[in-house]
Amino acid sequence: MVTETPVRKPKPMLSGMRSLPEHVLVKVFVLLPLVALAAAVPFAWGWGLSWLDVGLGAFFFVVSGLGVTAGYHRHFTHGSFKARRPLRVALAIAGNLSAQGPATTWVADHRRHHAYSDRAGDPHSPWLFGTGPKALAKGFWHAHMGWLFEREVTNAERFAPDLLADRDIRRVDGLFPVWVAATFLLPAIAGGLITWSVWGGVTAFFWAGLVRVALLHHVTWSVNSICHMIGERPFASRDKAANFWPLAIFSFGESWHNLHHADPTCARHGVRRGQIDITARLIWIFEKLGWASQVRWPTPQRLNRLALQPDL
Ligand SMILES: [Zn+2]
Ligand SMILES: [Zn+2]
Repeated sequence: MVTETPVRKPKPMLSGMRSLPEHVLVKVFVLLPLVALAAAVPFAWGWGLSWLDVGLGAFFFVVSGLGVTAGYHRHFTHGSFKARRPLRVALAIAGNLSAQGPATTWVADHRRHHAYSDRAGDPHSPWLFGTGPKALAKGFWHAHMGWLFEREVTNAERFAPDLLADRDIRRVDGLFPVWVAATFLLPAIAGGLITWSVWGGVTAFFWAGLVRVALLHHVTWSVNSICHMIGERPFASRDKAANFWPLAIFSFGESWHNLHHADPTCARHGVRRGQIDITARLIWIFEKLGWASQVRWPTPQRLNRLALQPDL
């Protein structure tokens, strides 16, 4: 008798469509900071830009930015290090403060990106429309932010079951609207209290809230768009991911994207001498403090195997 082995069908790639209210909210929170960014230069001309606004903006940029790079990306998506529970929760909260969606949604989209990178099914590849100038312009827009306006929802049950099963993360993610409110209001409150004026709160809300969120959005989106189009490709990856050095500092090391796609679980993306990777440095500090363990640092043997030319 032949016993049939049950074939486990993979769960579908998409879990459905966004509801209309949710869809509208995504648009508002993507476009509003962008409008602020466009208005930033004329406003700076009229109001001036205080050092306090710059300082608050930098602080919140670093916290929410590293929440995305060390938290959402290297820890939650790729498991490039293990984090003790308080650190894991703190990273999830810091990532939520980026206003880029809850951790689970972000991770599901990003794992889908790696599963299908630059092929059909990739949520944000610039190469889905062809290689002519017009197709690439369309592709750039789609990869940068156009994909956010599509209503398809990546199936978290397929791509992020580990996060769905994690009570801490479900709780943090459930409070996503609170974190988004906090990311705009905390700078305003700090600015108001430090200057002891309403106006100080207003300018801090504008610069360290809206403009900072827009800048971080664009840096993250540039990794999806620019770093899949322009740059060097010294390592063997199955896609068009490239190392784009001008973004290394602002992206906290994420723009060494070619190495990342060649070796996604590696905790350091800037692996060559002089390739600054601030996120990797932070993970190193977490490791020294005993908060992170089993960090997947690159080894020379592994890098040599991944390199297209061993002497590069
Ligand atoms: Zn990528
Ligand atoms: Zn990745």
